[in-house]
Formats: sequence, C-alpha cells, structure tokens
Amino acid sequence: MVKKDALERWTVEQSAELYNIRNWGAGYFDVARDGHVVITPFLDNKKVRVSIPKIIKGLRERGLDMPVLLRVENILDSQISLLHESFRTAMDRLEYKNVFRGVYPIKVNQQEQVVEEITRYGGKYHHGLEAGSKAELIAALSMLRDPEACLICNGYKDEEFIDLGLYARKMGYNIFFVLEMPSELELILERSEALGIEPLLGARMKLAAKAGGHWTESGGDRSIFGLDTAQLVQVVDRLKAGDKLHCLRLLHYHLGSQIPNIRDIRTAVYEACRVYAGLVDEGATMGYLDLGGGLAVDYDGSHTNYSNSRNYTLDEYCADVVEAVMQTLDERGVDHPVIITESGRALVAYYSVLLFNILDTARFEALPLPPALPEDTPTIIENLYEAAKSMSVRNVQESLNDAIYYRDETRALFRHGHITLRQRALAENIFWHMVIQAALHLKQLKQVPPELEDLEDSLSDVYYANMSVFQSVPDSWAIGHIFPIMPVHRLDEMPTRRAILADITCDCDGKIDRFIDQHAVAKALPVHELKDSEEYYLGVFLVGAYQETLGDLHNLMGDTNVVSLRIHEDGSFDFVREIEGDAVGDVLSYVEFNPKKLSSKFRETAEKAVREGLISARERREIMRAFEDGMRGYTYFER
Ligand SMILES: *Cc1c(COP(=O)(O)O)cnc(C)c1O
Repeated sequence: MVKKDALERWTVEQSAELYNIRNWGAGYFDVARDGHVVITPFLDNKKVRVSIPKIIKGLRERGLDMPVLLRVENILDSQISLLHESFRTAMDRLEYKNVFRGVYPIKVNQQEQVVEEITRYGGKYHHGLEAGSKAELIAALSMLRDPEACLICNGYKDEEFIDLGLYARKMGYNIFFVLEMPSELELILERSEALGIEPLLGARMKLAAKAGGHWTESGGDRSIFGLDTAQLVQVVDRLKAGDKLHCLRLLHYHLGSQIPNIRDIRTAVYEACRVYAGLVDEGATMGYLDLGGGLAVDYDGSHTNYSNSRNYTLDEYCADVVEAVMQTLDERGVDHPVIITESGRALVAYYSVLLFNILDTARFEALPLPPALPEDTPTIIENLYEAAKSMSVRNVQESLNDAIYYRDETRALFRHGHITLRQRALAENIFWHMVIQAALHLKQLKQVPPELEDLEDSLSDVYYANMSVFQSVPDSWAIGHIFPIMPVHRLDEMPTRRAILADITCDCDGKIDRFIDQHAVAKALPVHELKDSEEYYLGVFLVGAYQETLGDLHNLMGDTNVVSLRIHEDGSFDFVREIEGDAVGDVLSYVEFNPKKLSSKFRETAEKAVREGLISARERREIMRAFEDGMRGYTYFER
C-alpha cells in the first residue's frame, strides 16, 4: 500500500529523478512545476520552456488525433550546431590544420521534411548528405545546392547511378563514389571514360577493429562491406595503371551504429589513419578521411558503455577523433585531411517524440477470499484455501510453492472432468489472491529470495496504448532497443501503478515491457491511475532516428499524424507543418486493395440484403455511410 503522506509529499523533482529525464533529455526536456514535461529547445536559455500537454491541447483543438509524431525543429538545428561547434573547438584547441565536414546519411530518416531541414539548418556549416542507393542519390541531388558540402555515395552503384553521379560532378557537386567492392571500379572507370568526366573516388575499408554494441556487424574482418588491405592495394595498382591515382581522394569506414565505448572509436581511428598514410605513401592524392557514423545516443541516460548508452560526451568524441588523427599522421608527416563524419542517429534522434494516449488498463486483481468454501469443494481446493489463509511474511516462498502445486493439480483434475468450471474459477482466484498478497509481503522483507524477485513485475498492469510498436518504434520490437518513455503530465502526482504497454495491433509482440533504468533494464514503467474524465498521455522520446521508415503496416496501422514545431525565443511556437497520417483507405491501397472497388462490392452485398428484406433501403444508406466514414478514418483509435 502507498502511504498517504508519501502521496502528498510527492514532488516533480522526484518524478524527474524517477524517469531520469535530465540525464537522457540532454538538456532538451525537463519537468515543470505544474507536472508537465516541457521542451527546452535553447540550451543556452532554459527559460524558454514549452509544455507538451499544451502542445497536445493545441493539436486536439485543430482536430489532430493521437498518436502524433512531434518533431521539434529547434532541436535538430541545435544538434547540428553542437556537432560542428564541438569539432571546431577541438580543432582550434589542438591546432588542426584542416576542417570538419559533416554529412547526413539519408537512410537514418529519409522523410522529405527531415532531409530538407537538415540541409537548411546545416547550410551555414556546409553540412552534406550521404546516399546509399540510387533513390537516396536522387533525393540528395535535389536537396543539396551547396558546392562546398560533400555528397558521399556508398552502396551498390549501377551504370545509371554512376552516370548520374558523374554528371553531378561536372555540375560542380563535391560528390564522391566510395568503392564498397573491388568490382565497382571497372564500371566507374569505363563510364568516366565514356562521359569524359573524372570522378572523386573513395575507398571503404574493412577494419580489423571491432566495436561492442547492437550493430557491431558493420565493422570487423567479417563485415560484408568494404575492401580488405589486399583489395585496397589492388585498387591502387589498377588506378596507377590507368593513370588515375589522383582520383583517389577519400578513405571511408563505418564501424557500425551506436558505438557505446569511446575506446572502440579511438582504436578504429588509429587503424584508419595508418591506412590513410599508406595510401598517401602510394601516391594517392587523398585529402579526406571519412569516419562514418557510430556516434551514439545516451537513450537511458546512464552514461555507460551499455548498448543503449555511451560512455563519452560529444566534446570527448570530437577531441578524441581529432587528437587520434593528428597523433598518427603528424608522426608520418602527412597533411591533415578534411575530417568527415556521417553521424545520423546523434543528429536526429532527439528531435522526434511519439505522443499517444492510453485507451484502457487491465490489472491483476483477485476477489477477496470467501469467508468459507461451499460444502462440495474438492480437497485439493480446500488445501489451497488453507495455504492462502496461513500465508504470512515468514512463509511466503513455502506458501507460494504450495499454491503452484495445488493450482496445477486443480487444472489437471479439471482436464479430466473431475472439477467444474466454477470450482476451477474459485481455485484460480485463490491462487492470484496469494500471489498478490505475496508481492505485498515481499515489500517488507529486507532480502527477497532470488526466485521471487520478478514477482512484482509479473503483476504489473497492462496499459493499452493508442499506437503501433511495429509502425512507430520498430527497433523496440525487432532488436530490443530501449527508448525513454514517460507520462508527459501529472508529474506532480506520485505514480502509484506499474505497467507494461500493449499497443492496439492485437499481436502478442505488440508490447513494450522493457524500460530504461539506471542500473539494468526495468520490466515495468511507473504510471498514474487513469482518471475517468481525463486522457492520460505518454511520450516515447528520442525516436527521430531509424524508426520511421523501418516501421511497417502490421495490422494495417498506418503512418501517424506528424507535426513539426518551431519554438521562438519568446517561448511562443508555431505548428509549421502538419502531415496527416494514413487513412484506412490509404493503407488498404498499399496492400493493393482498391477502395472504390471495395465500396462497390460492399454496396452489392448491402443491396442484396435489401432485396432479401434483411435491411431497409434507408438502412442501406446509413450502413454505406458508416463504411465510407471508416474508409476515410485514421487507422488508430479515434475518440
Ligand atoms: C547507417 C550508416 C551511418 C549512420 O550511422 P549512425 O550511427 O546513425 O550515425 C553512417 N554511415 C554509413 C555507411 C551507414 O551505413
């Protein structure tokens, strides 16, 4: 039981600590005195705070239903600036004799709005783009206008890709073809010859160094991309033979995404610089060193080398990279190259928040024990009942063992027809009553028996969330990635329940039951009781990277509404862009249904029902209206 004075003493400070918002929020999110989560987009002016519940209110007034993906433009702007300023500071301090150029890998979030905002806010830093496919190249060419920004082409390149890239080079784009495989070189040289345009070439190297984390497969000897040292030498020889070694300008590697340990990052830089110096020795022009992505996001705020975190700050990352490059190249007297990084996750993760409401809850609850059992109660259930009555703090584990035994026996007897449905229901209720009591007893124990540690978690409530995990946080389902999740209001009240989240896809995998925790992974989220007349809103934070396009249409839950927010220095804000989520008809057409044909087929069925006298003609009109409204409706639960 929660004590009344604890409830009354609860403060927003306790909420801030409980949900760890000040650690994972990176200065962009906080809890205000009124219990609202606020966005603080200006890191140098924390007085500007915008309440998320107020934003939700504004959205609802405009008729935008939950779930909504909220993008805060200012945060993207700020993240781009931080990256460039951090590199600039490190380079100035260490007297690095070249510059930093960032490129944004389009695959991290390809939405037009995101790429457009990155080129806009990145403009002053000549922030470029990285394309891994023909489609991404086409998007990049139309978005990028700055001849000083780099356009890096990774991935498979066919003739169309190469021709387009060569023409772009001729038009003045600073565009690099990065060789992923030795075989690509012949086609590039052939097309270059045919069109009379010289390319800027890069080589992607396979590192021997491997990093820890979720996505380690990208690096290391066994990685599927890149050239090993023997292949690099072959490329050099082939270019020499064709008198094209001056085209080799860039060395690239990608260690994998979300590298939690700074040591791995540094080791990779050392190795790459040795290779870079080797290529210079061979006579290649070079000039660019591209370290790929990997700059991690501290999703749980623990600041550790745990896979959802990182044990370094942005400043440390930049300083370490610059220092490692200088150390290795100065030793060999090699000129400092332009340093490129392809950070995607770290740029965009913070900028999106998924907001949703809770539709309903389910609790593990048992009816009170009956004062006595009916006459005809089987002995096994009587035994269970006695065990329940005699359970105390001192014999919790023993009583639970008995309870499990008697419950299983009851089920066996039921299967064989010796126990009625009503008797089985009685036994199950006594059993759950005992489990719930046991969890309460355990709270009084200093030492909980290891077998019973998870007991309380197994009794968590289920909160039904108006969203789809598959559509909006696919990494949570696919690779067990953990995002910070918390209520966005009522944080001046103590959260008295613990819950897991179930989405509305009615798939048993459509749930979130792992949450951030300072030390390990939490199996339930502290939440508030629902109030009858009030919506309860939660947010999944830091979902700007990778989630949108990886998301799928499971159960035909479509894209959510998306709203872009721009916050002004005086704290006012505008909804600068709204993208309406998919309607039911939209998602049906994605899977090749034709909404018009569906209507006409259903109309035929309705007309047949009229002919057969099942419904009236007037009812047919109402039914068809409901059908058409459904077709136009949002795929999520509308209130
Ligand atoms: C995915 C990818 C990136 C982005 O990595 P982040 O860790 O998100 O910054 C960069 N470069 C290449 C080649 C990639 O495949």
